[in-house]
Amino acid sequence: MQLHNLKDSSQQVSFVEAVKTGLGRNQGVFFPESLTPLTDVDALLDMDFVTRSSKILSHLIGDELPADTVAHMVKNAFNFPVKLVEVAENTYCLELFHGPTLAFKDFGARFMAECLAQFNQGDKVTILTATSGDTGAAVAHAFYNKPNIDVVILYPKGKISLAQQKLFTTLGGNIHCYAVEGSFDDCQELVKNAFLDEEVKSTLGLNSANSINISRLVAQVCYYFEAIAQLPKAKRATAHISVPSGNFGNVCAAMIGAVIGLPVGKLSATTNQNDTVPRFMLDKNWTPNATLESLSNAMDVSKPNNWPRVQSMLDNNWFSYDNFYSTSVNEQDTQTVMKNIQQTGYVAEPHTAIAYQGLVENRAPGAAGIFLATAHPAKFKDSVEGILNIELAMPKPLADALAKPCLANDINADYDALRTEILKKLS
Ligand SMILES: *Cc1c(COP(=O)(O)O)cnc(C)c1O
Repeated sequence: MQLHNLKDSSQQVSFVEAVKTGLGRNQGVFFPESLTPLTDVDALLDMDFVTRSSKILSHLIGDELPADTVAHMVKNAFNFPVKLVEVAENTYCLELFHGPTLAFKDFGARFMAECLAQFNQGDKVTILTATSGDTGAAVAHAFYNKPNIDVVILYPKGKISLAQQKLFTTLGGNIHCYAVEGSFDDCQELVKNAFLDEEVKSTLGLNSANSINISRLVAQVCYYFEAIAQLPKAKRATAHISVPSGNFGNVCAAMIGAVIGLPVGKLSATTNQNDTVPRFMLDKNWTPNATLESLSNAMDVSKPNNWPRVQSMLDNNWFSYDNFYSTSVNEQDTQTVMKNIQQTGYVAEPHTAIAYQGLVENRAPGAAGIFLATAHPAKFKDSVEGILNIELAMPKPLADALAKPCLANDINADYDALRTEILKKLS
């Protein structure tokens, strides 16, 4: 796979380089020069999820990795199911929350961990990441016990839910967690400082594992094929998929899927009140507002860093603007929609409800609709129970994590303190 930097096309990299580097020069993201359609999509759709996903990823990555290596990586990464549930006539929910941390981020994080373990020739690698919730848990579980790789996770002390926190702070081993006396922005600032510190960067072999990494995106392409494979054949070509969007990585993966031959009619990227892209679609002006806190907090992003990738596919007519929708759902409507879905007998958390509403607003009459459930309702227990007036059972991974002690250390929001600590511990 040959990629170029969307802000500076003279920077060309291989897949391996793009995975190791993450972000390109001038904060530009890497994107494939071209995407070749798959041959015989019908035969692919007949295969099981892991076999098909290995073929799709081999096709995308190309000859940089042998097919049997990719197959092995996929088998390790995708060791939990994807479920398509019909919640109302012709309306399907794609459940992506059956992984170890109960959110779709497990797919990308686990495949990225396989990639880094594969590309690493015995060098020391340290994943340093700040989390406001779901990413930390997905990354920690994905890299847990991977040889030669340490993970350092910073989170704002007391500002994330106990369930979110316990999903990564209870692992131990190569997962090192710090509760920072400060905000999420303070945590991000500490990470930024570390990446500017050449000594720390080279001594520890820093990598951020954040959501702009191309390995996470290509992994996510696979479950869109699984969704369509589980749909009756006659409904496939015109199906409409709605993706709850924050950083726009997930919908980018759907679009890459469509470009390489996924039978799908239309795509919706549905946001919460942080509606930079929906407003851009109306007047083509890019005017991000200050980020607002929402019930769907994993989508509280006003400058989505995967948007340049989506826009490049639309501007190059790889996917038609006519088939792409982006609308927003406000806080009041998010709650109303959660209650509407409850009427069908299904329980959706806020992110999932937003995807459902994107479908209701934009789908053509008669077309099958698929909305993505990106997190298990129990991950957002308080808001779900409060809004729907129900009690949720705790799924096993969450109950297990809650029963274990937190192994995080407290640290001040002070770069010198962090620097001393991680150099002492990891070099
Ligand atoms: C991260 C996340 C999203 C947003 O996905 P993007 O790829 O950033 O658009 C939606 N829902 C949940 C539960 C998430 O954790």
